[in-house]
Amino acid sequence: MTKLQTETIAELMAHFGGEVLLPDSTDYDEVRQVWNAMIDRRPALIARASSPEDVVRAVKFARKHALIVSARGGGHNIAGNAVCDDGLMIDLSLMKRVQVDPGARRAEVEPGCTLADFDAVAQGHGLATPLGINSTTGVAGLTLGGGFGWLSRKYGMTVDNLLAVEMVMADGSQLRASASENEDLFWGVRGGGGNFGIVTSFEFQLHPVGPQVLSGLIVFPFAEARTVLTQFARFTETMPDELNVWMVTRKAPPLPFLPAEVHGKEIVALAICYAGDPAEGEKLIAPLRGFGKALGEHIGVQPYVAWQQAFDPLLTKGARNYWKSHNFARLSDEAIDTIIEYAGKLPSPQCEIFIGTIGGQTTRVAPDAMAYSSRDAKYVMNVHGRWESAAEDEQGIAWAREFFRKAEPYASGGAYINFLTQEEGDRVAFAYGPAYKRLVEIKKKYDSTNFFRMNQNIKPQ
Ligand SMILES: Cc1cc2nc3c(=O)[nH]c(=O)nc-3n(C[C@H](O)[C@H](O)[C@H](O)COP(=O)(O)OP(=O)(O)OC[C@H]3O[C@@H](n4cnc5c(N)ncnc54)[C@H](O)[C@@H]3O)c2cc1C
Repeated sequence: MTKLQTETIAELMAHFGGEVLLPDSTDYDEVRQVWNAMIDRRPALIARASSPEDVVRAVKFARKHALIVSARGGGHNIAGNAVCDDGLMIDLSLMKRVQVDPGARRAEVEPGCTLADFDAVAQGHGLATPLGINSTTGVAGLTLGGGFGWLSRKYGMTVDNLLAVEMVMADGSQLRASASENEDLFWGVRGGGGNFGIVTSFEFQLHPVGPQVLSGLIVFPFAEARTVLTQFARFTETMPDELNVWMVTRKAPPLPFLPAEVHGKEIVALAICYAGDPAEGEKLIAPLRGFGKALGEHIGVQPYVAWQQAFDPLLTKGARNYWKSHNFARLSDEAIDTIIEYAGKLPSPQCEIFIGTIGGQTTRVAPDAMAYSSRDAKYVMNVHGRWESAAEDEQGIAWAREFFRKAEPYASGGAYINFLTQEEGDRVAFAYGPAYKRLVEIKKKYDSTNFFRMNQNIKPQ
């Protein structure tokens, strides 16, 4: 340990309410390890904040000692910017309070909450806001990049439901941003990621949801991929906002409702959620069963919180993950052909190509209303490379990159900032499109020294 660290750690610890971890602390390795095992960084210190005041202390400390800072919410981001080498990682995962005002249908959520933490409390009141589809994801990073999931067609992006944030800025001051306070900052945080400061509280609009929803999977053989995908593409263009259907093609996991001989073979699955009266939903999803000769299905009325966790077993922490992503306004026949070609050569049993369907309410907000501006995106494709050992990196990455390039001509432009990897810093301006120029101005105003740069960085120049 250097002299600087020895002297300064005591200074930070003296007033810190949470925990300060050093490389030799018991929990250090567990806390520094993020979801994507390809990221292996070692911060000099980890400050596990327990309050906004702790975040202020940590920011001021890092500033004083010229340490690079990273902020960790759920630690899920593929690029791994939640953890830095040799700097100060501010871990917010101990800050997990969720407070719901059921009358006003509003929730105040601390930045360490996972989607499961938030959903559990909100659903206690029969309420929810659009979040992602893997319950261990952090609310903080998901929201700051835009956020979408099963409810987005009906209620918009997560950021469309964000009412206010409390933040710690680069100089350690605290600010509130909303439609009527620091409006430019509020415009920027709704999609601009962690570029402007550390959010210590999010306030969301909630909506009545479930608590039981019609949801589940229908699985088709890969041999029928073309007809299934073509019908999926046309069906999703006109379905009502309450209904959402996503497509995933991968090798079948050993799901009990699939015949054993299908396990490990390529399949096409439709994942369905109806955020309305289940009886009405049953009628609307009936045509999906006719898209092909299904291998099996598992659809029923279940708690919304259970459906929010349905994909968790396939998306556990600790595997090596490499992603590529495009937005689409429409899934053309050529795009479908390309998807099928690359789904036919998946480099590992855990790789998948998924199409997250948005549209509906997400497209009815003006593109200049906030930093998230991809309002023409009706589908977000994720090429999800995933495997266990570093020896598989080369082949898996090559597959994802090649597919990404081949699919590019059919994409609509822009990109989902939350799906960019660490090597895609040069795609940040492209991802934001017309919003980027204003984001640079806001960055200049609120973080002119680029103190917060462990993110998909908007440079203040
Ligand atoms: C398995 C899986 C499934 C996913 N599914 C979806 C989905 O359905 N829909 C969707 O929209 N996205 C989805 N995502 C993407 C997800 O939204 C991003 O990975 C998001 O960044 C995760 O947030 P986090 O808090 O867990 O991440 P972290 O890695 O902790 O944080 C990501 C970045 O956000 C910033 N940040 C975090 N907390 C704060 C804070 N309090 N203040 C300021 N900046 C902060 C930092 O720059 C940090 O580097 C998924 C990701 C995974 C891994």
